[in-house]
Amino acid sequence: MNQIIIIGKGPAGISAAIYLKRAGVDPIVIGKDLGALGDYKSSIENYYGFDTPIDGKKLIQDGIKQAFSLGVRILDDTVISIKDNGSHFLIITKNETLETKSVLLATGKTRENLTIPGYRKFRGKGISMCATCDGYFYRRKKIGIVGCGQYMKHELEYLSRMTKDITIFTHGNNLDEDLGFPIIDERIVEFGGTDKIGFVKTEKGTHEVDGLFIALGAPSSLEFANQLGLIVEKGNLLVNQEYQTNVPGIFAAGDIIGGKLQIAKAVYDGMEVADYIYKYLKDINKKMA
Ligand SMILES: Cc1cc2nc3c(=O)[nH]c(=O)nc-3n(C[C@H](O)[C@H](O)[C@H](O)COP(=O)(O)OP(=O)(O)OC[C@H]3O[C@@H](n4cnc5c(N)ncnc54)[C@H](O)[C@@H]3O)c2cc1C
Repeated sequence: MNQIIIIGKGPAGISAAIYLKRAGVDPIVIGKDLGALGDYKSSIENYYGFDTPIDGKKLIQDGIKQAFSLGVRILDDTVISIKDNGSHFLIITKNETLETKSVLLATGKTRENLTIPGYRKFRGKGISMCATCDGYFYRRKKIGIVGCGQYMKHELEYLSRMTKDITIFTHGNNLDEDLGFPIIDERIVEFGGTDKIGFVKTEKGTHEVDGLFIALGAPSSLEFANQLGLIVEKGNLLVNQEYQTNVPGIFAAGDIIGGKLQIAKAVYDGMEVADYIYKYLKDINKKMA
């Protein structure tokens, strides 16, 4: 029986795997892709120790390589479901079923990929996926946020500290709430500008912006939460101070538990949760002996 299976090979999952392995526990890590930073070239400028921008994708790959060279088993696979069997958990992937005494959910947050004309062109050129990463560049500027759920509100809360000139674009979704900022609820038909985004065109009008933040989508962990009866609060998995969910043996760390959606925080979470998983396993193994 496996001691711990980590779902996610991003900064949270890999950091936890490194600390666990070095503490003498053998984790298995399962990841379907490179996570938040995997799908396109992003340059990271706020991570400790690098004085020039670094390639986000390479940073993630280097972390995986580091864990691998320590002897961590890393599976390229997609987890379809998790079943609580009372005494242990079943992890059902596309390729196999694994048994484990504990699980770490480090599945990050799913960011929506839009097909609106101009989206690809201006992504990274005024269109941002991360308020905490890029909000600072838009102090007192005119910005937009695309979204309508908890994720949008999370980003709005942060961005409203940088500027008061914010327009919310729901892209055709209903948002019957006064959030203190104008809400445009028509569908977006185009993102335009010259070398950088300059406007958002909706079905009925054109709105100038200096920058645009995309906050659509839901945490990928939500399905697992439903399967296991985990408590979700404002789109995040609820954990206690020891990173335990409400189901004993299921831990969560990184973007999916909310807070700062940043690499440094995910790495920190991974380090911390490793300690609590170690203690949890020690306790249950003692009881089983
Ligand atoms: C465009 C962009 C730019 C960013 N820029 C910065 C920046 O400049 N500085 C900064 O600090 N942060 C930045 N971030 C945020 C940072 O990338 C995240 O905070 C960090 O990656 C979170 O780490 P994580 O391990 O929680 O999740 P992720 O890195 O998202 O990793 C999630 C992992 O879970 C796996 N997974 C999910 N579901 C399944 C499943 N069903 N089965 C198997 N595996 C699964 C994925 O494959 C992946 O391996 C940026 C994010 C984006 C999207």
